[in-house]
Amino acid sequence: MIKQFSVKTRSRDDWIDLTATVRQIIRESELDEGIATVFIPHTTAGVTIQENADPPLRTDITRVLDQVFPWHGAYQHCEDNAAAHMKTCYMGNSVQVVFQNGNPILGTWQNIFLCEFDGPRTRNVVVRVAE
Ligand code: ZN
Repeated sequence: MIKQFSVKTRSRDDWIDLTATVRQIIRESELDEGIATVFIPHTTAGVTIQENADPPLRTDITRVLDQVFPWHGAYQHCEDNAAAHMKTCYMGNSVQVVFQNGNPILGTWQNIFLCEFDGPRTRNVVVRVAE
């Protein structure tokens, strides 16, 4: 089963929690156990599994990514968003979550986040649920 949905990001760098929607899609599949793949079909937004308890940590990660991949660098890319592409390379475009009894097996502190690096925009999310 494949489902797609979209989210609106709010700023150039942003984190959107996808966990509740992914959980709902797994339930709708009516599969007891399997793997859910969350894929972001964009080159300047990625996805990761990270801590859900302390939002300042996400700010810390964003700040460090800005230090590693500064927005104004000596890039050759024809657009002015090379740093966003590099951050997406670093973060990756997909994660997989194993589920059992219709629930994703995530650690207590783990949530699934879309990572925006060139927003604000509307971003698509693809979820495939399989045994
Ligand atoms: Zn670009």
